[in-house]
Amino acid sequence: MFFFISIIFINIRIQKSRRKASHVWKSIFKTKDFVVNNLKWLVGDGKDISFWHDWWCGNSILADSHVNITSDHLKVVDFITSSKDWNCTLLNQVINANSLSDITNVLIPRRAIIKDTPCWTLSSKGNFSVKSAYVAISDNPPLSTSWKWIWTLKIPAKLKGFLWICMHGKLLTNHHRMIRGLVDNDICPCCNNAREDLKHLFFECTTRANVWNHLPSVQVPQTNNLEEWRNWLHTNINHSSAQSGGYLTKVLTLVTLWKIWLARNRKVFDNIMINPAEISISSSIFASQICHSFLSISCINPRLVRLVSWNFPGTGKLKLNTDRSSRGNPGPAGYGGVFREERGHWVLSYLGRLEDCTSLEAELWGLFRGLELIQSQGMEAMEVESDSTAAIALINGDPPVHSPHTVIIRECKALMAAMGCTLNHTLREGNKVADKLANLGVEQEEKMVSHISPPDDIIPLLEADMRRVIFERV
Ligand SMILES: [Zn+2]
Repeated sequence: MFFFISIIFINIRIQKSRRKASHVWKSIFKTKDFVVNNLKWLVGDGKDISFWHDWWCGNSILADSHVNITSDHLKVVDFITSSKDWNCTLLNQVINANSLSDITNVLIPRRAIIKDTPCWTLSSKGNFSVKSAYVAISDNPPLSTSWKWIWTLKIPAKLKGFLWICMHGKLLTNHHRMIRGLVDNDICPCCNNAREDLKHLFFECTTRANVWNHLPSVQVPQTNNLEEWRNWLHTNINHSSAQSGGYLTKVLTLVTLWKIWLARNRKVFDNIMINPAEISISSSIFASQICHSFLSISCINPRLVRLVSWNFPGTGKLKLNTDRSSRGNPGPAGYGGVFREERGHWVLSYLGRLEDCTSLEAELWGLFRGLELIQSQGMEAMEVESDSTAAIALINGDPPVHSPHTVIIRECKALMAAMGCTLNHTLREGNKVADKLANLGVEQEEKMVSHISPPDDIIPLLEADMRRVIFERV
């Protein structure tokens, strides 16, 4: 299937006498516009990318935002100097100011040898997948909500399973069963008075009046729309969501839903009606038991408590700590880094602002700018630390081919190999100075600033690290 987004497929033109093309080929060809519109080119040597008609910078092809196109046949390489910089003099003659900024934000590989590569923008790794294409074309795309938070909750596994089913819209209410063709009507089996959908089952059925009285802060979802239902679950049950209400409230909300579902099934399968007060009381008791069990475990289990400090580099070595700060993912971001010598004394630091990038991209820029400084300053014997396991895995692993981050990853790898740097992971609590610098980075305007003396804001943190102050990580 990856053949379909090869250069051959993109550049091919169907014959004018379409009758000669097979039905299969004509069907495949119908997808071409969709494929091309979701392919963004990663600039390598720039020889294969049409300057005007391929999407390789900003949010669209340059031809869309320019009226006077000088030559259709220009390639991106025509605007790259022999020293691998953008030829701004030439660019200024043919494009507008907005596009100039988009173009100069594209990193040209200087050290790594990379061919121009198409990246599939509908997947995070840049590889084409039928699933990602189907989701984009489908009228009912799944939510962007990640399910991972469900499995991190401090609750019994059976509740996680129930929540997972609810989030996927798979709970077999009669309405859902009728849609699947399992039953002929969708009437509520408890009140026999209305359609049994999620909203009715949990909030509106008259046989469950007052069940939610013990949770006055819970707002009833307004529709049966699956996406809104998922958002409601996420807001009211995820321990770390911003919604007010602590751990007990969120556990109690989920337990109440679960108890309502059990009561409904008791009526369906045993013809026994459980009254609302009993549902409320049993929910409160079970939620309290969960809180006692799971919270006390987290307090006494020593494996869940870790003490972390910044670690000094080896004798005669320097250490670079890097980090990023994001205001959204994607969104405005910043990066920062600090170099320190073997006794923890500050040597150099830097920070910068990035426009609309993902948090992973910001991590990679923080690292890349630090590595460039190592090279330009002629520093040696460098240990590098980051608290991003994702960025470290990309840098230390096999270089990806179609990832939108391929160029910066391979540039980092080339710089590290040339200077003999090692890259290791540290926990957030051991990376506080770099974290502070990254926060300063996102709040200022410059793309890159380095300091000739430590900024005032980081001095207390530098002193704390020199004294090996320990931070607790739970
Ligand atoms: Zn009912």
